Amino acid sequence: MLFGILKEQDQRVSVTPELAKKFISEGHEVIYEKGAGESAFISDELYEGIGAKSKSREEVLSSSNVLITLDPLSKEDVAKLAEGTFLFSSFQPFQDASICEVYATKGISAFSFDMIPRTTIAQSMDILSSMASISGYKAVLKATDYLPRYMPMLSTAAGTVPPSKVLVMGAGVAGLQAIATAKRLGAQVEAFDTRAAAKEEVMSLGAKFVEVEGATDDTNAGGYAVEQTEEYKKRQAELIAQKVEKADVVITTAQLRGRPAPTLVTEEAVKTMKAGSVIVDLASSTGGNCALTKDKEVVREHGVTIIGNSNLAADISEQASVLYSKNIQNYMKLFLTKEGFDFDFNDEIILQSCIVYNGDVIYGNEEKQKQ
Ligand code: NAD
Repeated sequence: MLFGILKEQDQRVSVTPELAKKFISEGHEVIYEKGAGESAFISDELYEGIGAKSKSREEVLSSSNVLITLDPLSKEDVAKLAEGTFLFSSFQPFQDASICEVYATKGISAFSFDMIPRTTIAQSMDILSSMASISGYKAVLKATDYLPRYMPMLSTAAGTVPPSKVLVMGAGVAGLQAIATAKRLGAQVEAFDTRAAAKEEVMSLGAKFVEVEGATDDTNAGGYAVEQTEEYKKRQAELIAQKVEKADVVITTAQLRGRPAPTLVTEEAVKTMKAGSVIVDLASSTGGNCALTKDKEVVREHGVTIIGNSNLAADISEQASVLYSKNIQNYMKLFLTKEGFDFDFNDEIILQSCIVYNGDVIYGNEEKQKQ
């Protein structure tokens, strides 16, 4: 099979030379668009060195049997693909299922990394987790860039500097990494989440868990958060407002799969913050957790810097690319053979992640999923 590597919109590359070498050693061929790894500090020479060949973007699109990308391809790029191409990316069919039809009509197969179940067995292929973890780490560093204060407590000859207070909303993968990073920098960290399981994880990192009583049971939600009752939201809003007022840095990561992110920080709450404080909103791409967030922008409102960025993993481009590739390598072990792909649709990971197969829409079609 012919694997293609494209230059992406962001700084990462989906297939590192190490993974490309693995494909070649299994008897496949690899072509890449010139400069594909440049922003991740991976030169064309490194790809050439392992036997990959440089081609124009058009050629990579039209002649590859397999394309692995970070973001789904644009309509214009999809139009150039050959029938029977295998696409691997994060298609987010739960946001907009109509994307499946686009591939089906072209006779393409599409596998979505964001549909891989969040189970222990699939951890080594969990792209959402590796990227979220990087984003959580970078969110804290971004905040320190804008914060006109120290993170740690310092005793200096000129006086004592108090530690910054960091509030993390949503203690999933990104939130937990943000907590750990802020703790390492010496900040006082508090966090909360609607999922009951998060409490123990937050406390194990040495942060204080802010508890709101009466969360909706989430045991059957596959580890994802569920919508909360109005009564809970009211109580949560009151407690958040109190905590936000005291925080120097607020990092928000709360997402609801397939739905807009919940608004957790109102404009009124922002107004109560000390001037110079910083909010980093990692949920900005799905609407943001702060009412004043603008996606992909840094704005200053009521003296508070608000950073809306759901793609901070791209800033750590080299290691994000390495981890992304490792996740793919682990995932493809399930079906990549010397002869090509051999899919066992009894495997829950393959079944869940396949959204279109040979032109048939599989996502949301339980009959086809069972066949
Ligand atoms: P996510 O990005 O979907 O959401 C981030 C966090 O925001 C979640 O912890 C969520 O509970 C929280 N949240 C949502 N609404 C909220 C609200 N109104 N107020 C406060 N917090 C709110 O989550 P994620 O980081 O992708 O993790 C999703 C789940 O998958 C978690 O349970 C995580 O532990 C689990 N997970 C499991 C594995 C594994 O076992 N292999 C790997 C990764 C993640």
